[in-house]
Amino acid sequence: MAQTFDAIIIGAGIMGCSTAFQLAKRGVKVAVFEKGYYGNGSTGRSSAIIRQHYSNELTARMALHSLRVFENFDDAVGGESGFTKTGFIALASAKDKAGLEANVAMQKSVGIRTDLISADDLRRLMPDLSQHDLVEAAYEPDGGYADPNLTVTSFANAAKRHGATFFLDTEVTGVRFAGDRVVGISTRSDTFDAPIVLNAAGPWGARVAKMAGIDVPINSCRVQVTFFRRPPEHADPHPVVVDFVNATYFRSETGDLTLAGLIDPEEANAVVDPDNFNEQLDPDFVLEIGEQVVVRYPVIEHSHSAGGYAALYAVTPDWHPLVDELIPDSGFFISAGFSGHGFKLGPAGGLMIADMLTGVSDPEFSPHLFRLNRYAENDPVTGQYEYSIAG
Ligand SMILES: Cc1cc2nc3c(=O)[nH]c(=O)nc-3n(C[C@H](O)[C@H](O)[C@H](O)COP(=O)(O)OP(=O)(O)OC[C@H]3O[C@@H](n4cnc5c(N)ncnc54)[C@H](O)[C@@H]3O)c2cc1C
Repeated sequence: MAQTFDAIIIGAGIMGCSTAFQLAKRGVKVAVFEKGYYGNGSTGRSSAIIRQHYSNELTARMALHSLRVFENFDDAVGGESGFTKTGFIALASAKDKAGLEANVAMQKSVGIRTDLISADDLRRLMPDLSQHDLVEAAYEPDGGYADPNLTVTSFANAAKRHGATFFLDTEVTGVRFAGDRVVGISTRSDTFDAPIVLNAAGPWGARVAKMAGIDVPINSCRVQVTFFRRPPEHADPHPVVVDFVNATYFRSETGDLTLAGLIDPEEANAVVDPDNFNEQLDPDFVLEIGEQVVVRYPVIEHSHSAGGYAALYAVTPDWHPLVDELIPDSGFFISAGFSGHGFKLGPAGGLMIADMLTGVSDPEFSPHLFRLNRYAENDPVTGQYEYSIAG
């Protein structure tokens, strides 16, 4: 006989595990199915930068809520997240000056500790940063980064402590319906019943939606991350930097490493098969991004390349997620397509999604902005920058 749950989640990334934690805490009998292991998708390879710099109020509030969880992780969730507070700096040229200023004003209005800073302030924070082409900078003292694998495992363990069941190495191969209602899922060997099924499959989100015959605009896109070992005289950690002028981000990693990646909208064009893509770093990428980072942070010119990897973003047309019931009143939901910036939103995302699944009428974070129909309604999420990942 099929095992029965109140809710089934497909995918044990940060969203699946955070949602499972929130549901299990409410006494919902929840099962999570994961084709690999915790963090098998985007989460486990995330740069895991935690900043509140967003263009819209909802994501800014979600980032702030999540920051508080990362700051008090052991109390709020249990276990560790590896959160390291280094501060966060956003750098803009004339093109993005107005956007940066508007964002900082909005962020302050929702309670985020952030400010525009002067060239002298910036020099004090990061003396080795080149400011030659800068017009504006903003700073968040509370920004930093976490350890994504620690975080997702802690969320899973917390969910389990509250009664959630995890099926690892168990791929969901079908979503089952009786008429218009979802009734469960199937794997290669079994079926499992539940009146609620959540597609939290990240870069596989479109595939899982297709199991129910639904097309969703989520592309699985290959992106790269590389590391530079800083010279010994620059071994101390540095703040997270998002450089809108050179379309890069970089942050300290443990030891004397700097982790670097792109914020290039072109990354949306690198669509790949999520089960069959090149996970190795392109040698050219190290040279190209190295040049872009050196312009801002000349210390890197004297660093050694320390490898890197390629991983997947789940990218939607406006670089914001789909959080919705995919077929009205069916019980089949989605929370996927976090487009390269969902890690930091994980704690609030779990709350938003659990509220949606349990029908909370006045949720702290309404998913309306992330509804699937926004594209058909020509009402996509918009931001202040062409770099939608920062929007
Ligand atoms: C290189 C890189 C850098 C990033 N940097 C940042 C950053 O600095 N800050 C930030 O906030 N975000 C960042 N992100 C984005 C962030 O990591 C993602 O938005 C977030 O992890 C998405 O979580 P998720 O749970 O939606 O998806 P995922 O973590 O991808 O989880 C989906 C899970 O579903 C499973 N799955 C798929 N299909 C099935 C199936 N049929 N059956 C069972 N299981 C299935 C997969 O194995 C996977 O584990 C980055 C991402 C990458 C790749």
